[in-house]
Amino acid sequence: MPDLSLNKTHDESRQGEAFAPSATDSSNHRRRFYIESYGCQMNFSDSEIVASILNKEGFGATGNYEEADLVLLNTCSIREKAEQTIRKRLTEFKKIKEKKPGMLVGVLGCMAERLKSKFLEEEQLVDIVVGPDAYRSLPALVEEAGTGQKAVNVLLSRDETYADISPIRLDSNGVTAFVSIMRGCNNMCSFCVVPFTRGRERSRDASSIVKECYELFNNGFREVTLLGQNVDSYYFIDEANDDIVTFAKLLERVALISPLLRVRFSTSHPKDITDEVLHTMAKHENICRYIHLPVQSGSTRILQLMNRTYTREWYKAKVDRIREIIPGCGISSDVIAGFCTETEDDHRDTLNIMQYSRYDMSYMFVYSERPGTLAQRRYIDDVPAETKKSRLTEIVKLQNRLSLESNRTDVGKIFKVLIEGDSKRSSQDWMGRTSQNKVVVFPKKNLNHKKGDYVMVEVNDCTQATSLGELEE
Ligand code: SF4
Repeated sequence: MPDLSLNKTHDESRQGEAFAPSATDSSNHRRRFYIESYGCQMNFSDSEIVASILNKEGFGATGNYEEADLVLLNTCSIREKAEQTIRKRLTEFKKIKEKKPGMLVGVLGCMAERLKSKFLEEEQLVDIVVGPDAYRSLPALVEEAGTGQKAVNVLLSRDETYADISPIRLDSNGVTAFVSIMRGCNNMCSFCVVPFTRGRERSRDASSIVKECYELFNNGFREVTLLGQNVDSYYFIDEANDDIVTFAKLLERVALISPLLRVRFSTSHPKDITDEVLHTMAKHENICRYIHLPVQSGSTRILQLMNRTYTREWYKAKVDRIREIIPGCGISSDVIAGFCTETEDDHRDTLNIMQYSRYDMSYMFVYSERPGTLAQRRYIDDVPAETKKSRLTEIVKLQNRLSLESNRTDVGKIFKVLIEGDSKRSSQDWMGRTSQNKVVVFPKKNLNHKKGDYVMVEVNDCTQATSLGELEE
């Protein structure tokens, strides 16, 4: 599979970050595209699918939008701030377009449906709008826009999974890759736009997932992250093998490709993650000891308003089960501060469940009302901005302490680390991750290790975000 060696501008994060190419594909393409991805890993993975579709049509990637014939923004609607960022970016591109009229600008992803008329007609910021299920139509839309017409396809599909498309790895470190296993979501969390922007849940053909992971492994990759909005509800009827493939079975199939291939996954819904999945993780050393289990709130009353369909007690029991079946498993979370009607007691419940769960890391946000969601239609966004902010500050402070405590318990222990590349600070040091997804930095010591190698590292110090160690010789 081609690797265009593109770099993302930020470390991977689930919300509101941009990933943009920074290197140029040297192959001889007639036209160049530039793509930035905002938001979650799913979006980043989608950009790799889009890159593959464009590549087949003769487009090569560029890291410099000023030399691009086609500029694409893969957008996220989850937070208001992400939308503001996109609008600002589009205004910048509009200025370039004034000097370079032939350049086409397109918006992909979650914002496409909601803002299509605003972007296309009212503000005239873009030429092309493509929803998450319509990427195959992008080449035709580019042609249409090239004739001066506005080109739009935001139709959602019940069965599109892009199973047959081999993504082009954007910004690849050559070691870790995302593999999309399903699309859409059937849950209706009241704060979330995903069911509206990405449509109904569909699971991708299991064999195509295993094939993609196998090819990645053969191309030198050593870690795959299986991606879906709710991976535990993965369900595929494998008629060829007369089998029903659950997420646990899929995990096992991928894990069996090679013990040298690490397997991660994201995201799990607390109501759906099963003992079968946990036992499968415990059985295979190469399935990473790490689960992203978003709690969102620690208050049962707020969880009900959020339509999360579990209680605080259910969530705590799930954490206990994980710790029982997979001792030493890392757990991370998403936390929202200041959801509609949240009281000080509800907020205390959130702090309390964070402490109970001892999260290694969390993605933490103030609640931001999104148009069209159930919460927007049913509830009043009544927690004052100042209160939201101060609650978030407390949540972040607590998480920082929990992360540091968690890292301190690793000091003096030896971990198997997969080397991902040079550390950000020094080319004399490697950066890698433990099975628990913790970042470890350690001196290279002139030993002949390389990216993609597994090494044993003794952790001897840490900060809240990083462990420091020495290679075991
Ligand atoms: S599980 Fe809930 S929060 Fe996650 S994508 Fe689905 S609706 Fe949104």
